Amino acid sequence: MADQTTFSVTVLGAGPAWSDRPGSSGASYLVRSGRTAVLLDLGQGSFPRLAQAIEPSALDAVVVSHLHPDHFIDLIPLRHYLAYQVTPPRSVRVIAPEGIAERLDSLHDQQGFAAQSLRCEPHPAEPIQVGELSLESIRVTHTADSRAVRVATSDGAGLVYSGDCGVAEDLAPLIRRGDTLLVEVSFGAGPVPPGPLHLDAPAVAGLVRETRPGAVLLTHLQMGLDRAAPVEIVQSAIDGDVRLVEPGDEIDLRGT
Ligand SMILES: [Zn+2]
Ligand SMILES: [Zn+2]
Repeated sequence: MADQTTFSVTVLGAGPAWSDRPGSSGASYLVRSGRTAVLLDLGQGSFPRLAQAIEPSALDAVVVSHLHPDHFIDLIPLRHYLAYQVTPPRSVRVIAPEGIAERLDSLHDQQGFAAQSLRCEPHPAEPIQVGELSLESIRVTHTADSRAVRVATSDGAGLVYSGDCGVAEDLAPLIRRGDTLLVEVSFGAGPVPPGPLHLDAPAVAGLVRETRPGAVLLTHLQMGLDRAAPVEIVQSAIDGDVRLVEPGDEIDLRGT
């Protein structure tokens, strides 16, 4: 056990799409193992926390789950930082749904804006290696191209991140027994009203009973909802640790 590489996630932002709570910023989770750093999403307001946690140009990759702004809009300050704050300018690999560069170019009204500092590529069809971590993604029900991702160490410890997801069952193929599951619970104790493609705690509890992750990190809870009830509901389905994460949380993925 002593030779195991470190494996942790730092919560930079825990969503949701909007908030009236100062300090609550868009989805962003920094996963580190050994010398490798992979960022999962970069939603509104989370770039400053990223810059506090790590030199942004040292990221091995940014992985964007889907093209809703609360999951990618702070790529714009990241792009500016890489272009103007770092000498010489650097670029970072961005694994994202097709069309992200065009979205960013359009927001800035400048062709080639994203490409100057962000090396955008689509989600891989097969698992890939990013530094010391393997990365696998699958489509989930939310936007036309929304992904859940699993990042894992060479000895098999894994973190599965749901992104935004409307059908809990979609996540099941990605979860290995004992993984840590970082999962959206937008509608808290539920129910999810007709229309939005998001999850509630009963749906997550059902998934957890079936797939047996070792621990569950709940996130992306909409403002104004009870914060204790979803934890209690999911905890009833699992012996391992269940918590609602907050920006600033640093979680040892081997210790949860
Ligand atoms: Zn979202
Ligand atoms: Zn979304």
